[in-house]
This record gives sequence, C-alpha cells and structure tokens, in this order.
Amino acid sequence: MIQVTNLVKRFDDQEVLHGMDVTVKRGEVLAIIGPSGSGKSTFLRCLNLLELPTMGSIQIDNVILSFQEHKRIADREIRKLRGKTGMVFQSFHLFPHMTAKQNVMEGPIQVKGISTSRAVSLAEHLLIQVGLKDKQDAYPDQLSGGQQQRVAIARALAMEPEVLLLDEPTSALDPELVGEVLATIRQLAKGNQTMLIVTHELSFAREVADRILFIDQGQIVEQGRPQDIFEYPQKDRTKQFLERFN
Ligand code: ADP
Ligand code: MG
Repeated sequence: MIQVTNLVKRFDDQEVLHGMDVTVKRGEVLAIIGPSGSGKSTFLRCLNLLELPTMGSIQIDNVILSFQEHKRIADREIRKLRGKTGMVFQSFHLFPHMTAKQNVMEGPIQVKGISTSRAVSLAEHLLIQVGLKDKQDAYPDQLSGGQQQRVAIARALAMEPEVLLLDEPTSALDPELVGEVLATIRQLAKGNQTMLIVTHELSFAREVADRILFIDQGQIVEQGRPQDIFEYPQKDRTKQFLERFN
C-alpha cells in the first residue's frame, strides 16, 4: 500500500536521507528504530510532506508523487497525499482552546466537510476507543500527558488515514504514563490500522511490530521480523545499537 522509492532529503547542503526504499503492506505495523539524529523523524515527515523530499517518489494507496530538486508540487497534490496519512507527534500539539471532543471533531469538519452532528458521534466513538469517555469535555491543560496523547491519536484517526504515523509518541511522557499510550497503540495494531511508529521503546516495538526497520545515518541498515532483528542482527551497527539497550 505504501511504496517509497529512493527517497532523498537534503537540508541546504546536508543530505539527511540518502535514498531510502520502503514498502509497507496494508495493515502492517512497522517500527522504526535507530540512533538520535539518524533521520527517523525526517523520514516520517517526508511521508506526509511536512518536509518536501528532495528526490524520489512516494506512493500511498492510489496517490503517487515524485520529487526532483526545484520541481514544485501543487498544493492539491500535497493535500491528496497528506490526506492518506495521520500524524501523532511527540508533543501532542492539541488545540489548547478546544475540548478533547472539539479537537477530534475539528479535522473532519474543516477538511472533510462532514456535519457537526456526525463529527460529534465520530469524536465520541473515537474517544471511547482510546479510553477517554469521561474526558470528552476537558481542555488539554486539564488532561495528563498520556490523556493528551490519546486525544491526539483519536484526532489523527478521525481523518480515517490509510496510514498512521507516530513519531516517538511516548517519549515526552512521564514514565508512569507511557503504558496507557502504548496500550492504545497496541489495540490499534491488533485492528487493521497500518502504522509506522518511531520509538525508543524497543520491547514494545518487538511486541507490536510486524517488521522492524533499523535506520542509521539516513539509511536503512537492516530490516526484518522483530525476532530476527533482536535475536540475530546481521549488521554490526544494529548489534551495537541494540547492545546499548540491554
Ligand atoms: P531523528 O528523528 O532520527 O533523531 P531527525 O530526522 O530529526 O533524526 O534528524 C536527522 C538529521 O537532520 C539531523 O542531523 C538533524 O539535525 C537534521 N535536520 C532535521 N530537521 C532539520 C531541519 N529542519 N533543518 C536542518 N536540518 C535538519
Ligand atoms: Mg526524531
């Protein structure tokens, strides 16, 4: 369902992604691991065009875009691809002046043009799904970090994305709040939601992912089934990285 081909990203003259090829099947859960600064966030941000790739192509579902230096991409094309994705950031990014429910309703109303009454029932349904039935009318500053992140997940799901992109969704949380967010993601993974998760929670990655992608210095060093990557890493760089967590 997703095919990324030779994805290159440069910032000024620094090349951060050196030609990445990634294929993801519908319903697959991919965990992306790797050292800090290796390009994991840049890769996710390229997938929903928060960063414009320098070269390469991205196909998600029935939308295909290819990129070349100095080639302009029409806003309409950008919106089409972005509409296939939902993004969850490390630092929640909820609208502070809106309740949990309003945060979830906003996208479907503004972008998809659905009626307020349908948006309300969608938002209520999703907030129940992430375990926040009682917090629908709370504002972000009345919620814990874990609750805010679950609202952010519900908000991303409200757009019915083909693929959910999660960039270190638990790394801004106090340790005691990590579990509730992981439980929400675990539940989505059991459903049929296609997901790409950047995470430092290696035991979680191992448990929840169908496939692990190890990135270092803007390249895919190794990828495979969790048990293969964690138990029998083939590349020295992967071994070194995993040893630090043992
Ligand atoms: P990771 O998420 O794996 O920690 P990032 O994708 O955030 O890594 O960063 C990869 C590299 O790209 C880093 O060297 C970082 O400094 C650089 N980088 C990321 N975003 C920008 C930007 N907007 N402008 C310039 N350099 C950037
Ligand atoms: Mg990052």
